[in-house]
Amino acid sequence: MKAEIIAVGTELLLGQVINTNAAFLAEELADLGIEVYYQTVVGDNPQRLAELITEAEQRSELLVLCGGLGPTEDDLTKQVVATHLGRDLVQDQQGLKKMEQHFTFSGRRMTENNLLQTLYISGGTPLANTTGLASGSFITVAQHHYLLLPGPPSELQPMFRLAARPLLTALSPVQERIVSRVLRFYGIGESQLVTELADLIAGQTNPTIAPYAKPNEVTLRLTAKASDESVANQLLQPVIEEILARLGQYYYGEGETTTLAQVVVAQLQAAGQTITAAESLTAGLFQSTLGDVPGVSSVFPGGFVTYSAATKMAFLDIDPQLIEIHGAVSEACAKAMAQQAREKAHTDLAVAFTGVAGPEPLEGKPAGTVWIAVASQQGVRAELCHFNRDRAYIRHSAVMKGLDMVRR
Ligand code: ATP
Ligand code: MG
Repeated sequence: MKAEIIAVGTELLLGQVINTNAAFLAEELADLGIEVYYQTVVGDNPQRLAELITEAEQRSELLVLCGGLGPTEDDLTKQVVATHLGRDLVQDQQGLKKMEQHFTFSGRRMTENNLLQTLYISGGTPLANTTGLASGSFITVAQHHYLLLPGPPSELQPMFRLAARPLLTALSPVQERIVSRVLRFYGIGESQLVTELADLIAGQTNPTIAPYAKPNEVTLRLTAKASDESVANQLLQPVIEEILARLGQYYYGEGETTTLAQVVVAQLQAAGQTITAAESLTAGLFQSTLGDVPGVSSVFPGGFVTYSAATKMAFLDIDPQLIEIHGAVSEACAKAMAQQAREKAHTDLAVAFTGVAGPEPLEGKPAGTVWIAVASQQGVRAELCHFNRDRAYIRHSAVMKGLDMVRR
């Protein structure tokens, strides 16, 4: 079944509210095996909404509308759909009862326009609103199904899950499951990744493979369609194996929200190792990133922010001569910072960052020049990196690289 999502609201068109309802609905519909081919946004304008509905009917069987079910003058989705279908609006008795109780309980007066909220399209089904007052509507006319949901996500989401989902499940009895898996890579750019997988990406229809570039990482979303989840997973498995055979060295983990820091922390926990950091240009960003991971205290006792040469000397006992001879942005300084931090914090590992966040050069080195060192029982190793773009990106790049060096 082809579906489309129509979000109604001038505030969405103006960019004041982000259309998160469309994202939520698209994901829910995909989960039901219903394909969303279009998502549109229209303002609170009855004529343009009616035109859009007519257009949508040409290409989709299920129209999911959200927003504009409220009591105010600009809330006209129900009225427009009812008029379009030549139907009346009738009272949802259960919704009305709930609204009366709400007003009795809160001691406020119910106004005439509140009654509009509990109307639904006659011949259809009213949908209960467990977290608000406006009833939703579901109606089938000829070849088309219309689902009307309230705008506030806190109302739309429970109404969809509790009231709409069962109705939609009944509509498409041949269930097709859509299963997605997200693979995450660090250290390879999107264009190189796409080049390495060009034949797979072009040749695969089930699962499909979609790359997505994020700051300092690339993700691949593999989506398979099948009669049930285990069949979908069987389709995914060999493709994932092939991808990892080609790009395994860049792969760090799987999952929608998995982070490199989580992977590193889990790895340290598994190995029973602890870590500290000495940070110059990142000024604590590495440690803050570790701090984002719940349970990090088992591997991270704390660390150092040593921005100036003076604090490098004071906190880490870096030899002033070393800085004089090599500069603060140097292999020697990075290594010394890592070794000293490891000694002082009594950890198994220490990572150190020293570089030029920019935009101005430092010690004659251009912005983006960064030395990162990792000290461990085996000794200390350092890498010279050249990051580009702006200050925030350079600092973030350094943190990601530091995490990756620790992981290896
Ligand atoms: P209400 O009874 O609150 O007026 P409604 O069904 O009439 O509900 P709207 O008036 O269209 O809904 O929107 C109410 C609020 O819900 C908006 O101000 C906005 O904060 C949120 N909202 C509306 N549409 C969306 C959307 N597509 N994505 C995310 N939030 C939305
Ligand atoms: Mg409203």
